[in-house]
Amino acid sequence: MFKLKDMLMLTDKGYTDLKKAIFACTITNLSLMLPFGITIQIFTQLQKPFSGGEISWTKMWLYFGAGILAAVLIFFANKHDYKKTYVTSYMAAEANRIRIAEHIRKLPMSFFNSRDLTELTTNMMGDCATTEHVLSHVIPQLCANGISMVIICIMLAFFDWRMALTVFCTVPIAFFVILGSRKIQERLSESQIQAKLKASDQIQEYFEGIKVIKACGLEGDKFKALDNALLLMKRMALKMEFGTGIFVTGAQIIVQSGIGLTVFVGTYLLTGKQIEFLPLLMFFLIIVRIYGPILVELTLLPELIYLQLSTKRMRTLMSTAVMKGSTDKVIKNFNIEFEGVSFRYQEDNSSEEAVIKNLTVSVPGEGITALVGPSGCGKSTLSKLIARFWDVNEGTIKIGGIDIKTLDPEYLMGYISFVFQDVVLFHDTIYNNIRIGNLTATREQVMEAARAACCDEFVNNLPQGYETLLGENGSTISGGERQRISIARALLKDAPIVLLDEATASLDPENEVLIQQAISKLIDGKTVLVIAHRLRTIVGADKIIVLEHGELAEEGTHETLLQKKGLYEKLYRIQQESMGWSV
Ligand code: ADP
Repeated sequence: MFKLKDMLMLTDKGYTDLKKAIFACTITNLSLMLPFGITIQIFTQLQKPFSGGEISWTKMWLYFGAGILAAVLIFFANKHDYKKTYVTSYMAAEANRIRIAEHIRKLPMSFFNSRDLTELTTNMMGDCATTEHVLSHVIPQLCANGISMVIICIMLAFFDWRMALTVFCTVPIAFFVILGSRKIQERLSESQIQAKLKASDQIQEYFEGIKVIKACGLEGDKFKALDNALLLMKRMALKMEFGTGIFVTGAQIIVQSGIGLTVFVGTYLLTGKQIEFLPLLMFFLIIVRIYGPILVELTLLPELIYLQLSTKRMRTLMSTAVMKGSTDKVIKNFNIEFEGVSFRYQEDNSSEEAVIKNLTVSVPGEGITALVGPSGCGKSTLSKLIARFWDVNEGTIKIGGIDIKTLDPEYLMGYISFVFQDVVLFHDTIYNNIRIGNLTATREQVMEAARAACCDEFVNNLPQGYETLLGENGSTISGGERQRISIARALLKDAPIVLLDEATASLDPENEVLIQQAISKLIDGKTVLVIAHRLRTIVGADKIIVLEHGELAEEGTHETLLQKKGLYEKLYRIQQESMGWSV
């Protein structure tokens, strides 16, 4: 029984609830036997005139009363059973989903590098749904049937042990048939899951890339890939149904052969005068009632095998170590120091070249520091390391003298506003998308941040203003407008450190001016690290860090770096020239 808790990944409460559900189901099963006991008693009375006796009407009325009482009892047992089984299983599944979501939130980004989103969605929805269904429709009924079968078998054995044995002898054989086919079913389930994942991947890719598919005329190729994935899913589903069906039907036939066997053994015993007619009739009546739920359970048994695959995936997810740290160390100043930092994305692949190599540099508090360098030199990586999206492989990153590895990632994020180049917007209203920056902010504060980030003019042109629902990931507004919403979010958060992935390069001049205005309000009085793509925007920065291949190439102010005539001067010159050409 203890294993059941692990197998279903239940909490202590979930496990206690499951035990209550099994008990409730057992009571329901046993209560359903009451009508048979009463029917047998009525038959006993009805056959009396044939053997020279008289029907006792007092007893008949008593049985009638007992029948009504049994109906009431069955009703309440079912009601209780329903509540215990279904309500608690949905609660357990909800607890599981929240537990997984909480866990995923605390995982390092390296985990997401190695997993694709479709697989995670499958974990969250599909695997939890499997547990939910098994918890509500399989386990309690299966255990309760097992328990009540043993009880009924013992009770029937009091009437005739040979008949009791005959009734039940086919059941274990049927169960062994299903359990014996476990390996085949596991293999089929795994292939079906893989086919489903592949199809989900293809569907997602098709919809996400629909613009490119249309623009490049890839409809045929891409649709073929999607079509093939869906075809494979259909094939695997049929294979799975067929594979499972053979064993389930086989097992059901074995159980039902018990009816023939009981009739045969019963008739044999009756003709040999080894059993009375009435007890035999009771066995004939009861056998259908007993086999009914068992036949249903046999069809559900493969789900237990499927469940094991689901929980294996969930267990792997839950056993991935989360990022931990203190939540009570107060950061007093916001100097950021990198001391001998090296980092590579693949944790387990030390042969991969490090993206950041032995970097020692500081970002002074309350000032603007620009991070520049050729594309791919590690600028974004470095800014994300400050926010502890990943932990460094060697060296330390300190903020105000505190190693960020000792800080809880969510606590650390409380000190940081991050304006990403690729803005993520949720399928929600503009107001709520800004409010994400600070969920405790008042409406007035949200509006103030929106105004400061120059969102007002474009939002007021929308029919529902701030209550306008954004399409998935803000697909209904322009790049510049998305940026302004993300700056409003950061303004509302008002964190002392601002990490800014400058994204003005791809914007039109009007948007660029507005965004520059918004940014200057955002960074006022903060420790700012800006990843600069256009060097002319950071000419006035307090410090410029120049990276090359993940290493520190140079550092200084715009003037000192120009005088050095190193990488910065070269990059600056190239950009100036290219701007000259474009005019
Ligand atoms: P920059 O911001 O300077 O353009 P990045 O920090 O984005 O550079 O990338 C530095 C290097 O790290 C690049 O070679 C890039 O391919 C690699 N890289 C970036 N993100 C990831 C990731 N999530 N997983 C693996 N490699 C990555």
